[in-house]
Amino acid sequence: MIASETQCIYCKKSSQQIPLFALQYQGQEYWICPEHLPILIHKPEQLAGKLPGIGNSETSGSSHP
Ligand SMILES: [Zn+2]
Repeated sequence: MIASETQCIYCKKSSQQIPLFALQYQGQEYWICPEHLPILIHKPEQLAGKLPGIGNSETSGSSHP
């Protein structure tokens, strides 16, 4: 399970340090800070390992070597 602490999934800053956006993914609630929200939008593969299932989508048309 994830810790009950509210912290950015990317940089681990807590809501005590920075405002955090809540997001729902696969029935779980996660938090991300404004600094890293664009990564979620534009480069979600950079969140591989942070969010389960991201970065290894089986439906991506291109395969990397
Ligand atoms: Zn962050």
